[in-house]
Amino acid sequence: MPRRCDVAIVGGGPAGLATAIATARLGLATVLFEPREPPLDKACGEGLMPSALAALARLGVDLDGVGRPFPGIRYVAGGGVAEADFPAGARGRGVRRTALAARLLAAAGDAGVELRRARVAALTPTGVAHDGGKLDARFVVGADGLRSRVRRWADLARPASGAARFGVVRHLRRAPWSERVEVVFGDGAEAYVTPLGGEEIGVALLWSGAARGFDELLATRLPAALGERLSGSETLGRDRGAGPFRQRARRAAAGRVALVGDAAGYVDALTGEGLAIAFEEALALAPALAAGDLAAYARASARLRRVPETVTRLALLLTRHPPLRRRAIAALAADPALFSRLLGVLGTGRTVREVGGAALVRFVARLARPAAPLAWAERGAR
Ligand SMILES: Cc1cc2nc3c(=O)[nH]c(=O)nc-3n(C[C@H](O)[C@H](O)[C@H](O)COP(=O)(O)OP(=O)(O)OC[C@H]3O[C@@H](n4cnc5c(N)ncnc54)[C@H](O)[C@@H]3O)c2cc1C
Repeated sequence: MPRRCDVAIVGGGPAGLATAIATARLGLATVLFEPREPPLDKACGEGLMPSALAALARLGVDLDGVGRPFPGIRYVAGGGVAEADFPAGARGRGVRRTALAARLLAAAGDAGVELRRARVAALTPTGVAHDGGKLDARFVVGADGLRSRVRRWADLARPASGAARFGVVRHLRRAPWSERVEVVFGDGAEAYVTPLGGEEIGVALLWSGAARGFDELLATRLPAALGERLSGSETLGRDRGAGPFRQRARRAAAGRVALVGDAAGYVDALTGEGLAIAFEEALALAPALAAGDLAAYARASARLRRVPETVTRLALLLTRHPPLRRRAIAALAADPALFSRLLGVLGTGRTVREVGGAALVRFVARLARPAAPLAWAERGAR
């Protein structure tokens, strides 16, 4: 086994595998450490935004034949419903993490990545120490997820403030009732329902406060109509949890260490942006490593995160302020064309400018109006 490589990647989740594919394709000798055996599963809403699919295509990874495409997003709150599709016929895709990991692993193998089934235990002055020995590497990439140890070892962690939020995911055998990803707001909790196939959905429950299980959250914090829809469906596999979500890094690189994906920081799962950010960062990181310019990567990461993280913070406001949420849902329902353009910013990488100033002013004016009685929506739409 070689004791030296160009890039040692810590973590074989989507961010680590995508980075490995990109660096190996650029001719960098790449070793990836992941202690878990496939199939690699994880708590995730499993909705890949169109921008995530576009980045995967640039990495040469296609997801044809797995999962289920979705055309847009549907928000449900307090009896109100707003739904729209991504602009220009763009599609996202609901894909089980195990299937996504299998495609990424195959592509990494094809690209010549060396996979080592081992846990990295520390950074050393010349590389990494792992549970099978040591490896020297010109660069180390921390792709070890939300609670990244590489982030701490490299002194890149920054304290996060705000209420801790968590997630738990269950898969159910039942036909999706909406072709879109549905986000249902409840009492300090949200459900994120992703169509994964003709007879499979994933339900991610996100919440703040004390840790609770899936069934208790569903029964006590979410609309009864959702529980009724899910009841009687066969549960597939076991529930998986994650959190606390909010994690911050001072920056995405220092010295010869770079962070990618959740290791480089995370705001919340509410807007389903994590995978797109991970893949886009991988595409930005590989050429920076090849050029030996990690400062360029740190700038690119900050730029890539600016819009999605701002949108996620705004969406989080809606979880904390039910009256504002009602107004926002009503405003989006009243203007599906605007909603579609906003989804373009969130999911397809369009710029805020493309939403149009006049439309944004109209939206903000609607938000400022007192919430109308929800007669338009009180048709049991939850
Ligand atoms: C409830 C929930 C719902 C979500 N919904 C969506 C969604 O719908 N769409 C979306 O795009 N994103 C979603 N996300 C976010 C998405 O899951 C993450 O952004 C994504 O998994 C990040 O990938 P990653 O590779 O950075 O981290 P991870 O997937 O966490 O992978 C990290 C890997 O590092 C490995 N590792 C850890 N420590 C070490 C070590 N010391 N040595 C070696 N390996 C190590 C772990 O075993 C793991 O495999 C959701 C997240 C949650 C929690």
